[in-house]
Amino acid sequence: APSSAPFPFDNSYARDLPGFYAPAQPTPVTAPALVKVNTGLAEELGLDPMTLATPEGVAVFAGQRVPEGAEPIALAYAGHQFGHFSPQLGDGRAILLGEVVGRDGRRRDIQLKGSGPTPFSRRGDGRAALGPVLREYTVSEAMAALGIPTTRALAAVTTGEPIVRERALPGAVLTRVAASHIRIGTFQFFAARKATDAVRQLADYTIARHYPDIAGAPRPYHALLDAVIDRQAALVARWLLVGFIHGVMNTDNMSVSGETIDYGPCAFLDAYDPSTVFSSIDQMGRYAYGNQPDIAHWNLARFAECLIPLLDEDKDAAIAAANDALGRFPTRFKAAHHAGLIAKIGLDGAPDEAVAEADLALALDLLAVMAASKADFTLTFRRLGAFAADPEAEGSVRDLFLDREAFDAWAMRWRERLDARGRDGAAVRAAMDRVNPAFIPRNHLVEAVITAAIERGDFSPFEELNKVLARPYEDQPAFAAYAELPPQMEGYQTFCG
Ligand code: AMP
Ligand code: MG
Ligand code: MG
Repeated sequence: APSSAPFPFDNSYARDLPGFYAPAQPTPVTAPALVKVNTGLAEELGLDPMTLATPEGVAVFAGQRVPEGAEPIALAYAGHQFGHFSPQLGDGRAILLGEVVGRDGRRRDIQLKGSGPTPFSRRGDGRAALGPVLREYTVSEAMAALGIPTTRALAAVTTGEPIVRERALPGAVLTRVAASHIRIGTFQFFAARKATDAVRQLADYTIARHYPDIAGAPRPYHALLDAVIDRQAALVARWLLVGFIHGVMNTDNMSVSGETIDYGPCAFLDAYDPSTVFSSIDQMGRYAYGNQPDIAHWNLARFAECLIPLLDEDKDAAIAAANDALGRFPTRFKAAHHAGLIAKIGLDGAPDEAVAEADLALALDLLAVMAASKADFTLTFRRLGAFAADPEAEGSVRDLFLDREAFDAWAMRWRERLDARGRDGAAVRAAMDRVNPAFIPRNHLVEAVITAAIERGDFSPFEELNKVLARPYEDQPAFAAYAELPPQMEGYQTFCG
């Protein structure tokens, strides 16, 4: 029967995993005000966006009112932060209200982020500032529109309360939607306590919720490890292919569902340079753009360690199985990354292995020329698509390179391979435009949105940017300014919020 409550909750985590969380109530705020309800996402979830935007809906998003059927909890987890293990982190500023099963049959978490302290808050205030909330809303929704697995943003509200960071900032709460909030760090929490039964219970729950296909596998925990490795490899390849830098790939920020999660100091690179880092706290460049595959691999090794007791009674055999599975990560990552790179230059569908290898070499050579020339990552590929269809369009892509002759030499080889393929230029362009976005949440655009909101209470730039980013692969001539070469932002830094 249709529920009268705004959320038809069915809370499997609270029900099936006692001991994996602590009850936690959101803390009401002084003056809640709606910033935005994500109408499209609400509909996907089978929720009524009109109801969500009423004062009653806003009261839920601000933590004033716990809706019917919710069982608010803070999840326990541990994690390696910048390589150092913390046995207890947990939801220090997030509260899971419950789960809803959407119109597509997918079960998803509805979580408040920034809704006040929980039993895991330690010295933190449990709050979030408006800037990071708008950043997470914008970037996570942009990732979804790009087709990359990610948590989503259902709503943002301001609290009317200042929060104290280096200076006083307006407070806000984000309502986050996720396939689940099970992290590698969730497994680590129990593995570190040698609670093997709990690890097994969590693995069984994870299989049922995220990998139902392997539930009947002869060795389900081997299959789980394999499946998580697979999804992470595919995910990080997708990140690299759009120039995304997560910024804080701690094991507590890696979802076992394979979604991108925890948008803190994330950013997209402009000029192509694999060593790019924006996060103010990443002094060593551990989470640099080009390090992300290696870090994902390292994080997955921590996941595998948690599963060792489940893999085999014989410890050596279990370790061998884990190493075996981990050994497949680089191949899987490369397969996904390389296929994506080849598609980005319009050469997918090679007739044979030798051609595919030469296409890949050409794609990798372009990256090398781009790096040497500090070419803009997004614009290079998008404009290359226009150039594929129209030789007159060469200038717009060539001008992105400091070393124009190097680009010319590369473009000559590229043109020859395209011609050899005998594909129509317009068709090549259309295929390239489907994988090379015109619009990404560039740093200066996100900063402008945040500044307008904080300094002038003006959310129209936020609305407009989100509207443009919802259709990243379309040209949208009316919004061409959003696709232009960004200003130089020497020393640009992002923060954890
Ligand atoms: P993060 O850097 O966002 O992945 O968070 C790392 C840990 O710090 C998690 O356990 C968070 O819940 C906790 N945390 C971050 N910010 C706050 C805050 N303002 N209050 C309480 N806990 C926080
Ligand atoms: Mg986190
Ligand atoms: Mg965070």
